[in-house]
Amino acid sequence: MSDTSRLRALLQRIDGRPYPAYRDIKGVWNLGAVEIRIDHVQGDPFAAPSRVRVRIQTSIAEEICSDPVQRLAAEDWLLRRFGADLTGTRRGSGKSGLLDVYRPGPEIVERSAVRLLSDGVAEVRLRAGLPARGRRILGEQAWRMLSADLPAAATALVAPSEPSLHEQIASVRLQQRMRAALRAQGLVAFIADGSVLPRSSGVSQAPMAGAVPFSSPASLRVNLCGVEGMGVPTGLTLIVGGGFHGKSTVLQAIQRGHLDHIPGDGREQVVADPDTVKVRAEDGRSVVGVDVSPFLGALPGGRSTAPFSTPDASGSTSQAAAIVEAVEAGAKVLLLDEDTSATNLLVRDERMRRLIPPEREPITPFVERVREIREQWGVSTIMVVGGVGDYLAVADTIIGMNAYRAQDLTEAGQALAGEAARARRPLGKGLAIRGIEARSLKPTGKGRIGARDDRRISYGLEEIDLTAVEQVLDGAHAATIGHAIRWLFEQERGFAEVDYLLDVLESAIGVEGIEILSPFREPVGALICPRRHEVAAAINRLRTLSVR
Ligand code: ADP
Ligand code: MG
Repeated sequence: MSDTSRLRALLQRIDGRPYPAYRDIKGVWNLGAVEIRIDHVQGDPFAAPSRVRVRIQTSIAEEICSDPVQRLAAEDWLLRRFGADLTGTRRGSGKSGLLDVYRPGPEIVERSAVRLLSDGVAEVRLRAGLPARGRRILGEQAWRMLSADLPAAATALVAPSEPSLHEQIASVRLQQRMRAALRAQGLVAFIADGSVLPRSSGVSQAPMAGAVPFSSPASLRVNLCGVEGMGVPTGLTLIVGGGFHGKSTVLQAIQRGHLDHIPGDGREQVVADPDTVKVRAEDGRSVVGVDVSPFLGALPGGRSTAPFSTPDASGSTSQAAAIVEAVEAGAKVLLLDEDTSATNLLVRDERMRRLIPPEREPITPFVERVREIREQWGVSTIMVVGGVGDYLAVADTIIGMNAYRAQDLTEAGQALAGEAARARRPLGKGLAIRGIEARSLKPTGKGRIGARDDRRISYGLEEIDLTAVEQVLDGAHAATIGHAIRWLFEQERGFAEVDYLLDVLESAIGVEGIEILSPFREPVGALICPRRHEVAAAINRLRTLSVR
């Protein structure tokens, strides 16, 4: 008997029986063109949906499947097509009838939702709500879901429309080449002429219709891999201009520039250094053992700031910690926006200096450190400033945004700058890297890890709030970061340096794939490759963290 007839007969037999009888369909079913693997059957219709994998043979050439960059582009392309054709229909109680595959934003990232195996077989991992009325199995509905809906979505993967796959592959290859070429050209970011930077709304990632396309000022125009646009050089770059003239929009495009984008996004030729990290103020966060002394000297009462810990940081201490932590994890470019920064960390004006003598002000503002951070630590900064002119004196490049058009204001700005403010104590060359106690990364309670929403992870009984970690994409990304921390906890003993831990994670993912982060024995479709910087940011916000 074929698998098709066996599955049909099985579903007829268990029809109307209590839900746990669904356990019998666990396993591999060869249904003609598609193969379905039911890895896990949910306990009841209201529980987390069942985990299913669907395989289908595509005609994607072997050279695409075996090249990591082309495969990344192709897997993303397949996922978008599968999702577009997937129609879960409500078929009963609870999650009955649900078919749920990861829905990506415009970024192209390594994910577990679709894998292209070396022989051109595509495997899609999704979640399915097996149908029931109350807690009784609806066998006929399950049959339609597994034998018709799922194969229909899978068949979309093999329908011809090859040119756009090739377009996507070409685009991703170019983006990666451009990103790799940045450092050799002395750049930290690049925005191609014609790019569309703004989004259609605060809740949509679609490009804004009718937006003013980006055009580079002639003096900053460069050619990167055959593409013309604005190069952002190393050093300190300011993005200045009046309110609502598009400054933050430029920075927001750059803060996604470490990732590839789908053709048509508008930002598919905006690239940034892979180690570009946005830092902002975040009062109330926990800080554990961070040497914030570059920005914060001895506190009243002689309390030391090297290292500094608090369960409830202020705006300025949280941002100072975020800067030091980013550099510790290997950031090469810092992004700051005045809108989301603590003013007293950015600057202190002349009148305040006179009123409060330096020995009574523990804060050394960023403006006095930003050059040293470049020279001593080799870290560049791109910063949006509207109101604080003090930065003009320390900037290497000044980009003015005027009605969404970029201008080079470097000379004009420097002419007005005045004298650069200097810190009273020099910045040390190195940065002490903390040792993390592996045991403190253990998820508490029963150890369940998941996304509470797009920006908060439940990590055992703890919550890790990533609201201020703007480079986290969504809930699946956040949850994967949680799984990565748990994975590190399982690998390590004793104390390990932060950068060592991140290297271990990166290389394991590089060799074995992000599937190593699956919370189950089988791969799940909700893993999004995390960058070391976001994993570090989450570890740093973990309230159980202990360091040396
Ligand atoms: P700023 O940071 O200078 O105050 P924003 O970057 O927040 O300005 O942009 C202000 C508004 O202008 C936003 O609603 C944004 O979507 C819109 N905007 C930004 N860039 C463009 C553009 N190139 N074309 C059209 N609208 C834009
Ligand atoms: Mg702004």
